Amino acid sequence: MSVLDPSIVQKLKQAAGPSGWSEDPAEIAPHLREWRGRWKGESQLLLRPRETGDVARILSVCDETGTAVVPQGGNTGLVGGQIPTSGEVLLSLERMNRIRSVSLEDNTLIAEAGVVLASAQKAAGEAGRLFPLSLAAEGSCTIGGNVSTNAGGVNVLRYGMTRDLVLGLEVVLANGRVLDLMRGLRKDNTGYDLKQLFIGAEGTLGIVTAAMLKLFPKPAGYTTVLVAIPGVEVAVELLNRLQDFSFRLMTAYEIMERRALDLVFKHIPGTADPFPEHPGWTLLIEISNPSAFDATEALEQALARALEEGRIVHALFAKTARDREALWRLRETIPEAQRLDGASIANDISVPLSRIAEFIRSGEQAVRAVLPEARVFTFGHVGDGNLHFAVQAPGHDAALLAAREAIERAVQEETAKLRGSISAEHGLGLAKNDAIARYRSADEITLMRALKQTLDPKNILNPGKLLPSGRG
Ligand SMILES: Cc1cc2nc3c(=O)[nH]c(=O)nc-3n(C[C@H](O)[C@H](O)[C@H](O)COP(=O)(O)OP(=O)(O)OC[C@H]3O[C@@H](n4cnc5c(N)ncnc54)[C@H](O)[C@@H]3O)c2cc1C
Repeated sequence: MSVLDPSIVQKLKQAAGPSGWSEDPAEIAPHLREWRGRWKGESQLLLRPRETGDVARILSVCDETGTAVVPQGGNTGLVGGQIPTSGEVLLSLERMNRIRSVSLEDNTLIAEAGVVLASAQKAAGEAGRLFPLSLAAEGSCTIGGNVSTNAGGVNVLRYGMTRDLVLGLEVVLANGRVLDLMRGLRKDNTGYDLKQLFIGAEGTLGIVTAAMLKLFPKPAGYTTVLVAIPGVEVAVELLNRLQDFSFRLMTAYEIMERRALDLVFKHIPGTADPFPEHPGWTLLIEISNPSAFDATEALEQALARALEEGRIVHALFAKTARDREALWRLRETIPEAQRLDGASIANDISVPLSRIAEFIRSGEQAVRAVLPEARVFTFGHVGDGNLHFAVQAPGHDAALLAAREAIERAVQEETAKLRGSISAEHGLGLAKNDAIARYRSADEITLMRALKQTLDPKNILNPGKLLPSGRG
């Protein structure tokens, strides 16, 4: 491990304040392991600022001394972006966890970077509003991480990605200057929208210290239904049909292949199979109802017609809040069940909705051409064209992991053929920073490098992440 110069360590500790740092390996260790255990980091110094001013001072020292710094929020990122390597300082924003304000007139909430997403949702709820970003990691991931990964989740269909939910940002630049982009206007065409640069930048362009988030009316209730369909082809046609029936109030449209659900029943206690005899695909559909309208009847009618036509096989409506929770548990525990089941390769792709069925067929063929023992299961945010395309090879874990690169490449090539994205919502981090050079044009990569050079000329902000490691 390369050791930081003691004088630099001293300056960084001073900048962070007496309780704002740790050199204790036991305290640092959990920050160096990520959720899937794929990357193991190294860092001798953990900095834990409390205030924006602390971050500004820390960055000034990093700038002056050329010290690389890796920001981290809840450490739930799935591409290794938050994991430091030797000689890098880890900057955890977890203590910057205050809700600065809630405005019912502006319908906004200002949260510091370390506010856990579930706490932001709760604060919005207590004020009688909704902050709609929602994902399975919401009990641990943070607003700073959500902004920096442009997180998606289960409500994108109606409310958009994090990018659509941010009205303002406070960012500390590589040189320690604080950039106040907190105007919070819904209309502002005075030049480039700079805050958008930092959203989805994975900590490579600046440190997000606070965000002004958009709030929405709280739904009066939910219509939640689990629907068994005979084949994946039905999913998209049904989506458009149900959107019309529900006045486009649908918030979630998730898909789960049988194999994904089987893993949940195998590994997650307290889950039960609602359609034991159904071998095919299952949709989890949710409409968030405004107070003046309840979409349940309209959805029941639409699904009854689809049942008569053989478009769907079963439909199970949640009758109580507990039923709703149980249905969501099936979807939300798939990543955990996948992790508990042994080795797997996760692919987070998106394709145009019209090409989903085609992708699932050709993607599976391409994977099997690499490793005949491999089997694929798909789940995810099908309403957004975003599929988590997971590859396992039961009994052949070593072969699977040895073939990781070739399998990922095969999936990426199939995605690209359909003009899809090789990273729909998890970002690039260390996992796909080289791959991106194949799928974004040379002009795009050059422009990204130019932005990085302008905002981080000494390459101290999360170096080696997001952008291709070579100069090509
Ligand atoms: C079970 C599970 C389910 C998930 N489901 C989804 C999903 O549905 N949709 C989705 O989009 N993601 C999902 N994720 C991925 C992950 O939760 C998101 O990427 C989340 O936004 C990361 O937030 P975090 O606070 O954990 O960030 P971290 O993991 O700590 O960091 C993620 C990236 O952001 C950077 N970063 C963190 N904080 C800052 C900051 N303040 N300033 C600058 N850069 C920063 C890091 O350097 C890193 O590059 C899931 C993860 C898990 C484990």
